[in-house]
Amino acid sequence: MLSLEQAREAILAKITPASETTAIALDQALGHYVGTTLTARVDNPAFDNSAMDGYAINCKDLEGTQDNALPLIGEAACGGAPAQLSPNSTMRIFTGAPLPRGADSVIMQENIEVSANGKIIFPKEPKTGNNIRRRGEDFKKGDDLYNSGHQITSNDLALLATAGIAQPVVWTPPRILVIATGDELIAPGDTLQAGQIYESNRLTTIAQLAELGLDRVDSDTLRDDPDILRARLATAQDYDFIITSGGVSVGDHDLVKQIFSEMGEIDFWKARIKPGKPIAFGRMGERSHFFALPGNPVSSLVTFKLFVEPALVHWHHGTFREPQLQARALGQYQRRAGRKEFLRAALSIDNGTLCALPLPGQGSHRVRPLSQTNGFIVVNETSAGFDEGDTITAIPLSTRFSG
Ligand code: AMP
Ligand code: MG
Repeated sequence: MLSLEQAREAILAKITPASETTAIALDQALGHYVGTTLTARVDNPAFDNSAMDGYAINCKDLEGTQDNALPLIGEAACGGAPAQLSPNSTMRIFTGAPLPRGADSVIMQENIEVSANGKIIFPKEPKTGNNIRRRGEDFKKGDDLYNSGHQITSNDLALLATAGIAQPVVWTPPRILVIATGDELIAPGDTLQAGQIYESNRLTTIAQLAELGLDRVDSDTLRDDPDILRARLATAQDYDFIITSGGVSVGDHDLVKQIFSEMGEIDFWKARIKPGKPIAFGRMGERSHFFALPGNPVSSLVTFKLFVEPALVHWHHGTFREPQLQARALGQYQRRAGRKEFLRAALSIDNGTLCALPLPGQGSHRVRPLSQTNGFIVVNETSAGFDEGDTITAIPLSTRFSG
C-alpha cells in the first residue's frame, strides 16, 4: 500500500499540465493561474513624486537665508506634468504629485511655519531626498513580476494594475465534470422514500472547486447503472477533469471503477490514509484525468483535499503547498498506529497560539462535526494518538478561526 506522499507523487506524475493560455481582462483575473512570465509595462513609481503633503524645496536655497524662510510661488498637484521650482522659493505639493524640476526635498506640512509676510519657514534642517519616492524604486519596466502557476489574489490585482498589465495571460481554466453515483441519492428538498438519502458530494465538490477559483463545471447525479454512466462518459472527452463520488470500492454496485477501466487507463490503489478508502485515478481519451472518490461524504471531501487539489494546482503549473502548522491539542485522541489520519478539528487561536480540538464522531459517514470543522489534525502513520496539551500538526481549511 502506498503512503500519502507516494500516492500523490504517482498522481502528479500522470497529470498532463495545461497547455492553452488566454489573455483575460484584469477585472476577471481573480483566482486564475498565471500562464506565462508577466513583466512590468511601466516603472513604478512612474515619476519622482512626493510621499507627503508639504512643501517642495531645493535644500541649497535655505543656506542663503537668515530665517530659513522661502516665498511660496505655487502648487504642484497630482495629475499634471512636473512644475518648475524657481531658485530661492518653495511650492506647495501634495502626496503623489510630480516633484517639481529643481526641487530635491519635500518638507512635511506639519514641520513648517508661516511668517507674518506669508513666507514659509523651515525650522528644521531639511535633508536632500526627504519624502521623495523615486522613479522605478519599486519596480522597473521589464522586471519579471510573476511566474507561471501563480494563482492571482486580490493583492496581485493591485500590482498587476499598477504595472500596466491590463490583460494577464492565464492558463485557460479546466473544464470539469462532477458526477455523484448512487441509486439511493435524491436532491435535498425532495421527499425521502424508503432507503433514500440526500445527495451532498456533488454540491460539496463543486464548492471545493469554486474555492480554488474553478467554475467551468458541469455536474450530474447518476444511478448505479453501467449503461447510464457509460453513456455520460462517452460524451465527456472535452473535460480536463472528471470527478466522481461513490461506486469505487468492491461492492457489487461499485461500477465506477469498472467503467473507468473499460473506457480509460486506471490506477486503482489503496493509500495508507484515513478517511479515504481506495480511490481510483486515471486518464481517459486525449485530455481527461479522472478521480473516482469514495462515497462517504467525509471521505469524499478529505480525498478531494488530499489528492484532487494538489493535482489541480500541478495541472496549472503551480506548486502545491500544504499549510501544515504546529498546534496545541485541546483534547486527546488514541488509536492503533498504521494509517495517516486526518481528524476533523475545530481550530482556534488562544493568545497567539494555534489550538486544535479533535471533534467527537470521526466516522466517515458522520457529517455533524463538519459544522465545527475548520481544519484537520494530522496523525502520522506511526503515531498512536496524542494527549491534551501535546504539540500536534494541523491543516487549516480557512483562515477564519472563530465561531
Ligand atoms: P459508496 O462509495 O458508493 O459505496 O458509498 C459509500 C457511502 O456513501 C454510502 O453510505 C452511500 O450512500 C454514501 N454516499 C455515496 N454517494 C453519496 C453522495 N453523493 N452524497 C451523500 N452520500 C453518499
Ligand atoms: Mg454507491
